Amino acid sequence: MKDCIFCQIALKEIPSEIAYEDDQVIAFKDIQPLAPVHLLVIPKCHLCSINDVTPEYEGLIGHTFSVIRRLASEFGVSESGYRVVTNTGTDGGQIVGHLHFHLLGGQALNAKIG
Ligand code: 5GP
Ligand code: ZN
Repeated sequence: MKDCIFCQIALKEIPSEIAYEDDQVIAFKDIQPLAPVHLLVIPKCHLCSINDVTPEYEGLIGHTFSVIRRLASEFGVSESGYRVVTNTGTDGGQIVGHLHFHLLGGQALNAKIG
């Protein structure tokens, strides 16, 4: 989608540090990392948030989590632990309106909620 920064990252119109890519999903380092490992894993197709995840996207989301599992292993946090966060909408703190999963790890993470 035009004017969506994550679509532009997926299209390589905006540079990013890419950690993984296939035809459906791309993962890149967050520009303002909150932990030693902070990746953003996104479907390449433009979905605004979980609110757009209708049943036709179940396969895509399952694949996205498979990629997250693989990245957690590659970045060395599978055993130490990590957190996957998806902010949704205003109260959820979503800033970028393209569905994305934060993969955070590499240190003990503090707040459980909020
Ligand atoms: P949200 O609050 O929407 O869940 O988080 C959006 C995340 O995207 C933030 O952690 C922010 O640092 C990250 N971000 C915003 N713009 C860019 C960008 O241009 N490149 C990268 N790599 N990350 C970005
Ligand atoms: Zn987008």
